[in-house]
Amino acid sequence: MKDKIRIATTSLAGCFGCHMSILDIDERLIDLVEIVEFNRSPLTDIKHASECDIGIIEGAVANSENVEVLREFRRECKILVAIGACALNGGIPAMRNQFSLAECIQESYLDGIGLDKPLIPNDPDLPDLLNKVHPVQEVVKIDYFLPGCPPPADMIWKILNDLLAGREPSFTPDQIHYD
Ligand code: SF4
Repeated sequence: MKDKIRIATTSLAGCFGCHMSILDIDERLIDLVEIVEFNRSPLTDIKHASECDIGIIEGAVANSENVEVLREFRRECKILVAIGACALNGGIPAMRNQFSLAECIQESYLDGIGLDKPLIPNDPDLPDLLNKVHPVQEVVKIDYFLPGCPPPADMIWKILNDLLAGREPSFTPDQIHYD
């Protein structure tokens, strides 16, 4: 029997909305799991990607853990697909880039509205925040980009079908959405 195509997915600094769009493929997911197995993903809870055919990245790069995960995906996945505005241009997480990291921490933990006990979290297990939020292609090479917030399920379905069939992905103008 032919080995299944192995896909990993991750959400870096994202809201999981792009993953919801993957799930919006709906019943076509049943066809997909006939030929695909999911590796590291919020869908499986596998903690590390290993030898994958396709990696799907949601979200921007905002902290040291995001950098590690993204590099792991680049190392372990033959093809990397970045999905959604946050991955492509920083999106909503990058709105903090107009302020310094110190100002963001001050506002979030010390004197923002509604804070009960001002305290900067310092658990050693917490990843370090980067000074600025970065789009994923500033950290690793990305092979394909899907715009949108989130990209429509049909667009995700189309690129998966093209890649699984060994075709160069292509879209008609009506399949591409930027909103
Ligand atoms: Fe969420 Fe939109 Fe960012 Fe996707 S692109 S992670 S849907 S905010």
